[in-house]
Amino acid sequence: MEGIRHTRHGWWLEEAGAVTPTRPLESDTSADVVIVGGGYLGLWTAWHLLVLEPGIEIALLEAAVCGHGPSGRNGGFCETLWGDVETLRERAGDAAALAVCRASEDAVRGIGDWCRDNEADAWYRPAPMLRVATTESQLGSWDGSVKACTALGADDEIVPLSREEVRARCDSPLFLGGSAQRLNATVQPARLGLGLRRRLLERGLRLYERTEVTRLHRDGSVETRLGRVRAGSAVLAVNSAAVGFPGYRLSLAVASSHIVLTEPVPDVLEDLGWTGGEAIVDSRTLVHYMRTTADDRIAFGWGGGTMGFGSRGGSRLELDAGVIRRSRESLVRFFPQLRGRRVTHAWGGPIDVSPTHLPIFGSRGRVHHGFGFTGNGVGPTYLGGQILARLALDRRDERTSLAIVEPARKLFPPEPFKYVGGSLIRQALLRKDATEDEGRTPDAVTAFVAALPHRLGLHLPR
Ligand SMILES: Cc1cc2nc3c(=O)[nH]c(=O)nc-3n(C[C@H](O)[C@H](O)[C@H](O)COP(=O)(O)OP(=O)(O)OC[C@H]3O[C@@H](n4cnc5c(N)ncnc54)[C@H](O)[C@@H]3O)c2cc1C
Repeated sequence: MEGIRHTRHGWWLEEAGAVTPTRPLESDTSADVVIVGGGYLGLWTAWHLLVLEPGIEIALLEAAVCGHGPSGRNGGFCETLWGDVETLRERAGDAAALAVCRASEDAVRGIGDWCRDNEADAWYRPAPMLRVATTESQLGSWDGSVKACTALGADDEIVPLSREEVRARCDSPLFLGGSAQRLNATVQPARLGLGLRRRLLERGLRLYERTEVTRLHRDGSVETRLGRVRAGSAVLAVNSAAVGFPGYRLSLAVASSHIVLTEPVPDVLEDLGWTGGEAIVDSRTLVHYMRTTADDRIAFGWGGGTMGFGSRGGSRLELDAGVIRRSRESLVRFFPQLRGRRVTHAWGGPIDVSPTHLPIFGSRGRVHHGFGFTGNGVGPTYLGGQILARLALDRRDERTSLAIVEPARKLFPPEPFKYVGGSLIRQALLRKDATEDEGRTPDAVTAFVAALPHRLGLHLPR
């Protein structure tokens, strides 16, 4: 596609500016806690460890450069877990669901406070998140969440919006109605990750970049090609790469999501009335998600990318010309004013899909893990960092007793079934969404296969 800069790392990281990687680990060392992975989860864990225990010795090992994975490339929707309130009630009951949702609100506010207190300009902008319907079949898909909020005495968390109310916030001809999730923000994701990296280095974090961990031991020590770290406990914060570590292979599946970005289009945003900074998702299973930026661009993403096989990432999880072409076509369908305007950048990355759509935290011996953010990790990794810091220090409190810590186990089927089954379901979802976009009803086989995850109690990324 001519004119588009289609790269692995994407525009946010370009905009945030290059960083010089630290020295890799070159010999054996020791620390109180070793953190594996320098995305938001590993970085927030380090931050919260320093809050709880200011003198603590932390070694953080990152295979590439901190914040250059999905944490620096995502859509920048900084969400709570209210969108999962129904699943939380089903799995854990009302009081536990409410506790998780409230803790996830603290995380969204906590990120804003952190940016302010640490003078990190990550473009943190609070504004409600809209879930919209773009087909008749999507109308009312938020009813269950609205009812669940009401049942928990939290009526104002997710409220239904009429077609006119949605269009007053963003006048896409496709929007037929929707709901608004009260507490939400958007960020420039790379500025957040790199800002956190900078502040941690200033506070004395021992960071070893370009250092891949090859083995984890239950006693908390970890191995790399050139050295071993002995530690009181280890934190595994490697996102979808967790499937490559024994014991975690069936805990998550790997999908992908991709984003296209327009040139600055202030006149189009004005025309759409989309000037309030709202993050917007449609109500498909393989969602479209869209937001504006501080310099008046539109970032438009689609969760319709390919699946990963086992622990093999595969380059199409990051660079997929077919998905980018389709995303670009959808962008113009959503916003016809963009016809003739330039799409300047495109990129993508892997998504760590949990079987329940909820993140999972827990411990195996002295190794503590977090993964399964399923496309909603910007806000929840802050909470995850609070949880993992406590687990690593063996301090139990209300954060470690949340229902997302050591939840009842649910696994994906083994390979090749996970990949083959996942890919078949993905194809069926693509067909179902395309048919419904044309105002038609999907055929019986497509509808049956597309409904399988729901029947099996598995939730795919929104
Ligand atoms: C295109 C896209 C759009 C998204 N949009 C949103 C959104 O709008 N809102 C939202 O909330 N979420 C979104 N997400 C998801 C979000 O980015 C993730 O949930 C979040 O970044 C997870 O943070 P993390 O620290 O767990 O993972 P990562 O950012 O992936 O960090 C893990 C790190 O571990 C390192 N690593 C891996 N293996 C090893 C090893 N063996 N040794 C050492 N280091 C290792 C990696 O190099 C990486 O830096 C999106 C994701 C993608 C790809």
